[in-house]
Amino acid sequence: MTIRVLPMADAKRALMYAIEDVPGKGKGLIATRNISKGTRILADKPWITINESFMTKEFRMSLIAQQLHDLNKEETKDYLSMRNIYSNSSAAKNWVGIYTTNCSTITSCKSALFPNVSRINHACNANAVDYWNDNLSKMTVHALRDLKRGEEITVCYVNRPRNRQERLRKLWEEHQFTCECDLCSQPEEKSKLTDFILDRGDDLRKEFVDNWDRNCTKNPKTLLRCAEMQSRARRLDGVNELGLMRAYEQALYVIIANGDLARASIFIGRLLFLQIVISGHDSPDTIRYSAFSRSPKQHEKYGLSDKWETTMANLPPDLKEGQKEFEDWLWRRNEIDPDPKRIDFYDRKIFPGFNDLPVECDHQSIYIKRHPRRHWCFLGEILECTMSERLDITVTDIDGEIVSISLEASADYNSFDFERGHTLGILYAERYPDLKEGVKSISAKIRPGCLKVRHMKRDWEDRSKRLTDI
Ligand SMILES: [Zn+2]
Repeated sequence: MTIRVLPMADAKRALMYAIEDVPGKGKGLIATRNISKGTRILADKPWITINESFMTKEFRMSLIAQQLHDLNKEETKDYLSMRNIYSNSSAAKNWVGIYTTNCSTITSCKSALFPNVSRINHACNANAVDYWNDNLSKMTVHALRDLKRGEEITVCYVNRPRNRQERLRKLWEEHQFTCECDLCSQPEEKSKLTDFILDRGDDLRKEFVDNWDRNCTKNPKTLLRCAEMQSRARRLDGVNELGLMRAYEQALYVIIANGDLARASIFIGRLLFLQIVISGHDSPDTIRYSAFSRSPKQHEKYGLSDKWETTMANLPPDLKEGQKEFEDWLWRRNEIDPDPKRIDFYDRKIFPGFNDLPVECDHQSIYIKRHPRRHWCFLGEILECTMSERLDITVTDIDGEIVSISLEASADYNSFDFERGHTLGILYAERYPDLKEGVKSISAKIRPGCLKVRHMKRDWEDRSKRLTDI
């Protein structure tokens, strides 16, 4: 293979971005052409790198000055035009202030400032992600979704973003600006829902970490359920796929710790795909997942117990990724203790997801035609509830679909606690036939006594006995 070295002019033309003035934000990076998801937008070598451990103020200042001295005239001019939110009472203090305002953390103890990456502005739902590639000694930036020509390229400065108030507080403390991204500019009601979903995803991540030592082999199902609920929240948060990656990572930990190589291979495949999107084929993490995909047993958590031991031969031959039954298998939803008194809330015949509900007035429905005496119950986890003339409830079902239910406000519901996270059950629920674009609704024709709400949060399996009266 021959590598063609582009002449300088061609190399400049090949840039996918330009540094331009962005109203209200100083300089920023703007896409100069359409960029598809997963594309490496740039790979930047640092101008200045500092090992922050055991560093005195004076030594840090002298290291910055030394490395600044090595930049050429043009680069120094660019450096000095960067924002400084700290003191600039002397030239040296100004250099340090610029560095501290614009540097990125590259490893647990090192920070660095880059000519291009340090110009990228923040958005909480960033369209790109920066990643320190130790193999290249460069910071890469990859598109997290398709970008249009002229769109500003953004990364998220907040590690694991939570609710709006918390994000704004952190951004002000560390960077002194008020974010006005799409997520921060959502109308109040929508924003409350996003906040709830983001916080819940992160709370579940923490809960997994806190319970790992106690439950990783003794009660792995609880941890897997925690990762599953997290993955469901991450799909809804509208931010990007970084959160989903964390959920899959945790699921892989508990699956592989208990020897389940068949399911581990699926999570490794999903993580490898996402890792390539965020860091490319040559990143250390991609190479690591690539090695696991060839030999899952290499994973550091493999085999703490053989509780769930499987081999690749145990992959279900009749199921394909993307099918609901495949997800049921993957998340081990159908395996409950053979206790006849327990209800299996993952039994889709009794507890169908929204897409499997019969359509209102559809007399051809299998529910009525073939099984005239069949009983079914729709279960949803409450995300949002507003009460005025009507009772508008938003829930998420077993497949992570967002479903809305709008009911006449009635005294019948006064005793119900429509709190977020509680479970709502509707016996004989039907889908509303006139779907507004993108809105999934359940028919308001609910028979008296067929709607219940229980203080049952998240884990439909372990708390199944508590819903036996639905
Ligand atoms: Zn924001």
